[in-house]
Order: sequence, then C-alpha cells, then structure tokens
Amino acid sequence: MLNLDFHPTGRHFLQIPGPSPVPDRILRAMSLPTIDHRGPEFGALGLKVLAGVREIFKTRHPVIIYPASGTGAWEAALANTLSPGDHVVMYETGHFATLWSKMATRLGISSEFLAWKGSDEHLPNAPSWRRGVQADLIEERLRKDPEHRIKAVCVVHNETSTGVTSNIAAVRKAIDAARHPALLMVDTISGLASADFRHDEWGVDVTVSGSQKGLMLPPGISFNAISPRALEAMKSAKLPRAFWAWDEIVEMNESGYWPYTPNTNLLYGLSEALDMILGERLDNVFARHERWAAGVRAAVNAWGLPIQCADASVYSPVLTGVITPPGVDADALRRLIYERFDLSLGTGLGKLKGRMFRMGHLGDSNDLTLVAMVAGVEMGLKLAGVKLAGSGVQATMDHFASHAASVALQRAA
Ligand code: PLP
Repeated sequence: MLNLDFHPTGRHFLQIPGPSPVPDRILRAMSLPTIDHRGPEFGALGLKVLAGVREIFKTRHPVIIYPASGTGAWEAALANTLSPGDHVVMYETGHFATLWSKMATRLGISSEFLAWKGSDEHLPNAPSWRRGVQADLIEERLRKDPEHRIKAVCVVHNETSTGVTSNIAAVRKAIDAARHPALLMVDTISGLASADFRHDEWGVDVTVSGSQKGLMLPPGISFNAISPRALEAMKSAKLPRAFWAWDEIVEMNESGYWPYTPNTNLLYGLSEALDMILGERLDNVFARHERWAAGVRAAVNAWGLPIQCADASVYSPVLTGVITPPGVDADALRRLIYERFDLSLGTGLGKLKGRMFRMGHLGDSNDLTLVAMVAGVEMGLKLAGVKLAGSGVQATMDHFASHAASVALQRAA
C-alpha cells in the first residue's frame, strides 16, 4: 500500500510531459491571500493576465481563461462554434486527438477521423501515431466537399501521447488551397510556451490550451484563443452552452473581471509565469526546448531504441516517446524506475499502452535535470535486462557540452 507519510529525500523527478514541475517563484506567488474577485485589485490582475496570454498565443484577439482543465477548453471550442449534427474533420495523431474526436461525437457532432494509412514496422496497429498531420490529406478531403458541409478542421499541434509536433501553418495552407471556409481549431495544450505557436499568423480560429505544461502552472486553468471568424460563428452556433459561453466572458473581461468566480490564486501564478516567460522572450524559450529535446534524443539514439516519432521534421521539443523492445512492458519499466530512482515518466496511452514511455523535457528544467532523467532511464533499462547499444547519458552530456545554450545563464556580477 502507498505510504503517504513517506517523503524520500531530495526532489522528486517529475519528468512526465505535464503537469510539469512548478517553479518556486510561481508557488510563492500563488500563496498570497485570495482577494475579492470583484474588487479593484482583481481588475488590475485580470487585465494584466489577459493581455499577457495574448502575447503567448501571438494574437490580438480575445483569449478566454477558464477555471477548468484542458478538456473543458476542448468542449468550449466545439460548443461555441458548432451546431448539433455539424460535420467536422479531425486528424488521428494519437490518444489526445482520439479523445477530442470522441468528445465531438458525444456532443452530437459528426466527426470524421482522417489518418495516415502507411505501414510501420514497430507499431503496425498505429502507424499514424508516429507522424504529424499530413496536410495534403486534409486538402484532398476538403476538395471533395464543394457544398461546404465540413464546418471545422480540428488538429492537435503537440500530440502529448506521441511526441509529434504537427505543422499548423501547412494545415492552414491546405484549407486555403482547397478554398474551403471550415474553421481551423487547434489543440496546443502541451505545445504552448514550449513550441513555436502563432494563432493569428497561422490563421487559427480557435486555439485550445492549458496551464500545466509550458506555462509551468499547476493544472486548473485552460484557454480558448478566438479569431474574429470564430466569434462570428458563435452567433449562429446552436450547441447548448452556458458555463463555456464566450460572449458574457469576453464582455466582462474587457474590464478585467469574469461572470463567475475565477481561479484567483492560479491567476497570481499565471501573472508570475507570464513575467518569467515574456521576460526570457518566447524565441529563447523555444530554442531552449529544442536544444533540450535534441540532447534527450541523442540518448535514445545511443541506446539504439526507436523514437516514437518516426519523422525527424516533426520531433516534439516538449517530450520524447521511446518504444521499448518486444517483450519489455514499458509500464513495468516505468514502475521500476519510479520505485528505484524517484523518477516519474509518462505512460503509453491508448493504442501505445505498455509499448512505450514518454520523457518530458519542458518548463522549469535545466541540462543537469535532464542528464539525471536520462541516467534514471538508462539504469532502469539495464535493470530490466534491455541490451543497450551505448551510453545515452554520455550522448546527452556530449550534446549539452558541445551545444551551448543560445542565452547563457545570467549571473549577477
Ligand atoms: N490535449 C492534449 C494534447 C493534452 O496533452 C491533454 C492532457 O495532457 C489534454 C488534451 C487534456 O487536458 P486535461 O487533462 O488538462 O483535461
């Protein structure tokens, strides 16, 4: 039985791809006393965070902040823009794309699931779970819809279950090439503030995201960034919505308030996270994640194990999935690593259960944390009897030592 009174010494290594470790600075900010959410101080906080998140999504348009997990923001995106029986095209990149499609069906939307149908030697039952969205398949499908029955195209930007970051600009191009008016909805729950994302420039109509990944906050708030076209679609959309309805929230947000009680202390945390991320500058944040991801992939390549993402052009900067050799249960390996080294890794989800594990390299981390993660995994693989081609730890150290960070650590003189 789990003994909740037992706390191992040192810090737990929370290396799942979100929730990611929360920096002390953010934890301290959240420990301030809760204030009156209708008082003057709150309005100033509200206006600050609403302006800051627009910079993170790279949009000039409204961003809604919900006191809910990412799943709530998925529902909000669909419920505000669509009507019962509407047809949407979704794309099977992995477990989260599958869940979003199932949700659409539950809400009474007709969801068509596109997938890449090629063959894959390691995962023959899930070939499209090793690749990004193929924009040409979307274009082909939209061209076969001259009556414009398809109301939206929904894709996952950073598929957290696989470690694949799809090219959203290419999806927008495909929709435009087919001259189709479908809305583009994108889930970047695990991509935001780690992987480059441009809501306005890429012509995204609704972007869905959450707090517990690149923003380095605990779970509990989520977002919808909304284009003017999506706001227009809302006016004729007939799916029932009340809590998720954008109109009242957008109106109240103009003065920094919400129509209900917002998540005050998480908003303190968000304010602090915005100071940290925008202070570092987004381009530096993205470069930091790309560099970490390359260092972790160097380890997997040195071990001689397959990376879940089979296309190097869409490797995720947020996490790396590793396929375990036949006969090695990835969950048993994760359990062993957790029990022996106090290191949590992401489990294989849905079709990938037991076949792979996920290493998170996002948010409040650094080179040595990641070297330690790789060391924990390498020790675990050896204990599980996996024959490794070489040392991943050495490969990661070599990568970090030979690729200086684009921004040196700043130390006071
Ligand atoms: N979409 C993606 C890509 C995710 O990674 C997650 C959660 O990890 C979700 C959706 C669901 O979000 P939540 O668990 O916060 O409801």
